Amino acid sequence: MSKYVDTVLKELKAKNANEPEFIQAAEEVLLTLDPVLKANPQYEQNAILERMVEPERVIMFRVPWVDDTGKVRVNRGYRIQQNSAIGPYKGGLRFDPSVNLSVLKFLAFEQVFKNSLTTLPMGGGKGGSDFNPKQSPHTPGKRCSDAEVMRFCQSFMTELFRHIGADTDVPAGDMNVGGREIGYLFGQYKRLANEWTGVLTGKHLSYGGSLIRPEATGYGDVYFAENMLAMRKQTFEGKNCVISGSGNVATYAAEKLIQLGAKVLTLSDRSGAIVVKDGITPELLAEVMELKNVKRGELSEIKAKGVQFVAKKNSWQLVDKIDAAFPCARQNELDGKDAAYLLKHGCTVVGEGANMPSTPDAIEAFVKAKIMYSPGKASNAGGVATSGLEMSQNSERLSWSREEVDAKLKGIMKAIHDNAWEAAAKYGKKGNYVVGANIAGFTKVADAMVAQGVC
Ligand code: NDP
Repeated sequence: MSKYVDTVLKELKAKNANEPEFIQAAEEVLLTLDPVLKANPQYEQNAILERMVEPERVIMFRVPWVDDTGKVRVNRGYRIQQNSAIGPYKGGLRFDPSVNLSVLKFLAFEQVFKNSLTTLPMGGGKGGSDFNPKQSPHTPGKRCSDAEVMRFCQSFMTELFRHIGADTDVPAGDMNVGGREIGYLFGQYKRLANEWTGVLTGKHLSYGGSLIRPEATGYGDVYFAENMLAMRKQTFEGKNCVISGSGNVATYAAEKLIQLGAKVLTLSDRSGAIVVKDGITPELLAEVMELKNVKRGELSEIKAKGVQFVAKKNSWQLVDKIDAAFPCARQNELDGKDAAYLLKHGCTVVGEGANMPSTPDAIEAFVKAKIMYSPGKASNAGGVATSGLEMSQNSERLSWSREEVDAKLKGIMKAIHDNAWEAAAKYGKKGNYVVGANIAGFTKVADAMVAQGVC
């Protein structure tokens, strides 16, 4: 590690000692940048690393709302505006009790590199709240009602609206923020700002959404993996795949893998995992999507033939022969032991759909084994890339066809793959997508920051 990186990391750890996820994400990136920092002394002269690890702005606010029993509840809202060097801040909103400053700063930091990799002009941001739509505050075991979610979203936007805008900061969905929440947030923004602009992405098709946006992160993850396989002259045909999660990213990754002839053997959620030895069928996947998106239930409720439910387990250690793994649920969900199991059982592809799902020791094991491992910031960038395409359509006041958007998404995922591959090769780390993605994402932002002076 160079002295420069060492100094920045020491300072970062001292300043943010109670933010472990943020430190983990920053360390993971900074430790791979030595070659590019050495070749470009202007980055250190301009304190690029020191500026990149400090968000441009952190907004924290109170979100008061009234539940269905008439009681006033209070949550905490956040927006991290991390870096706007190459475009307006862009990144999702997460509603989950696990949300705190550390988690959102890690996500905003990652987002800067990811958005840079998409080749589109988007800066990085992230936001959310510790609000839990999956647990009503007054009835144990019940979810919040739609009316409660709407009142929460309206209150959240009542503060957030003054900080965002189509050319300033464009939020989108993330965990527990899907079409329903984006609709309520957009409606409230429109009322308060008295304007209709593409201020949020992930909108419904009826009011400015883009075709393929819901599918984009999962499809993009698989397209990236297809590109990795193509380098070794392989395809997904007949490959055994395990996936974690059963939300937006996981289910569309599963859909694309099935379309490509792979066998999807597992999905998971907080209740546990389902294992289907012969592979999940399109009909079963449709049932899972209906259960999670409409009925808002748990995988334990699936009773279809051939489905084995394993309570409170993730997807990694449930199947004997595994070719590819797709962590698509949450951060740090795949640890060193899981990685060892996957490698021992034949896994040669890991395509991260979630943000930072693999722990540092798991990443080390994958890199050491020289398997096709893609970090989330590269392989899950299809979602935000298609959000960028939604922004373009909103600005043009036009809608593109499904085929057009899908073709652009495929092209972007190939470009991300190739840029990461080439950056890794250029700095002597051929085939290492971690190093490649970090360097390719970093360089564009760093050059823009140098060009814009000290700001
Ligand atoms: P969803 O809320 O749609 O799905 C999340 C999935 O993860 C659910 O199946 C959920 O289970 C599971 N999960 C969450 N927390 C836990 C936990 N503590 N233990 C076990 N399972 C858990 O989110 P998304 O699919 O949108 O996002 C998944 C990941 O992908 C996140 O890391 C997100 O940041 C990342 N991502 C998402 C993008 C997008 O476009 N949506 C873009 C880029 C990255 P349950 O249903 O039981 O809660």
